[in-house]
Amino acid sequence: MRIAMIGTGYVGLVSGACFADFGHRVCCVDKDEAKIDGLNAGKMPIWEPGLEALVKFNADHGRLTFTKDVVEGVKDAEAVFIAVGTPARRGDGHADLTYVFEAVRELAKVITPGTVVVTKSTVPVGTGDKIEEILREEGVTDVSVASNPEFLREGAAIADFKHPDRIVVGAENSHAQDVLKEIYRPLFLNRAPILITSRRTAELTKYAANAFLAVKISFINEIADLCEAVDADVQDVARGIGLDNRIGAKFLHAGPGYGGSCFPKDTLALLQTAENAGVDQRIVRTTVKVNDDRKASMVERVERAIGGDLQGKAVGVLGLAFKPNTDDMRDAPSIPLIEGLVKRGAKVRAFDPVATEQAERVLSGIEFVDEAYKAAEDADVLVIVTEWDEFRALDLEKVAKSMRGNVLMDLRNVYDREEAEEAGLAYYGVGRGRFGK
Ligand code: NAD
Repeated sequence: MRIAMIGTGYVGLVSGACFADFGHRVCCVDKDEAKIDGLNAGKMPIWEPGLEALVKFNADHGRLTFTKDVVEGVKDAEAVFIAVGTPARRGDGHADLTYVFEAVRELAKVITPGTVVVTKSTVPVGTGDKIEEILREEGVTDVSVASNPEFLREGAAIADFKHPDRIVVGAENSHAQDVLKEIYRPLFLNRAPILITSRRTAELTKYAANAFLAVKISFINEIADLCEAVDADVQDVARGIGLDNRIGAKFLHAGPGYGGSCFPKDTLALLQTAENAGVDQRIVRTTVKVNDDRKASMVERVERAIGGDLQGKAVGVLGLAFKPNTDDMRDAPSIPLIEGLVKRGAKVRAFDPVATEQAERVLSGIEFVDEAYKAAEDADVLVIVTEWDEFRALDLEKVAKSMRGNVLMDLRNVYDREEAEEAGLAYYGVGRGRFGK
């Protein structure tokens, strides 16, 4: 198949490279010239494990190309995927569809009859209908509009794309269904379940999935708070419930609250959809509040552990990206934490294995260092914010010796209290017995 991918970000680039790897001919389009120039020169715009090799292999075999020119990208395509950003609109949290509609108007100029336009971006229910309307306004007839939401996780994006739990296709006619089945055929043959639904159902399924995961995280975070009050261990509670197949072990890790490019904006957008439809979604609304409060409260945790006053205190921060194996800083829990620390007069020294460049754009007034141990040097407290593998095997004695104070605030429960205490550190995990016991 000949495929155009409009938007070459985390989703567009990974999807484009994987489709090319299935044997399709893919042209990735982006209006960000620097991104396309970089990709044409072999430079990845994002950090994602395995991506560089996959892109290079498929580009070298002529199956994957990059362009700034939508005409060039779309002209022969049998399917045009839209994978542009859908950030939360300022003020009301509605998904901002400006980029999607702009892309539709651009592709309308070149698209040929029979083509299938597919939204891979996460878009609210009814967006497919609006896209059809725009296409009609632009005089385009005889094209289908389908929804194919993406469920990949940053940091494991290629594996997720190639071995998905399911593929959801929302298509209103058999031609669109057939084209999408053909595109995904290699996965279909590997028995990845493909779920064909109405377009509106597919659009909503993506939001329901992310909202449910956000609820799960917030649930275990609140149980962690209860553990701290009643002297129980949330790690064991999570295991105790997660081994129950009806519950499942994933997304039951207590921590500083969820962040990233999807959950915060998608939960807000779901609430907007619900409000417009006149149906309250109390569980999701509460989850958003629980999570916002949690992220904002992390600075107080540090303050409490250190005895009340952060003024002049040195805080080492390990991990800035919203999760390991990505450089994505969007809505990362590290941001409100660090901003709060700086506001209260702390001196912050931070390290992330790959996200420093992105972090420098959103965080100011702190020092970025190029090694985990340097973040610990002379620190009164060391905070693990993102559970990168390399933070799981620190020499804690070395850390303790190089610090001025001795507080290890482990917001990801990477270490055990005993090993930290043996190294001479005062250990503060999340939901693991009474706080600072
Ligand atoms: P991103 O910001 O990394 O990439 C979007 C890209 O689209 C940018 O490079 C931008 O320059 C480009 N773009 C915008 N308008 C364009 C236009 N008119 N023509 C060409 N290019 C244009 O975003 P992302 O993280 O890849 O997310 C894309 C969508 O996928 C969002 O709706 C998101 O919710 C959804 N999604 C993201 C993830 C994830 O983990 N990041 C997972 C599943 C779904």
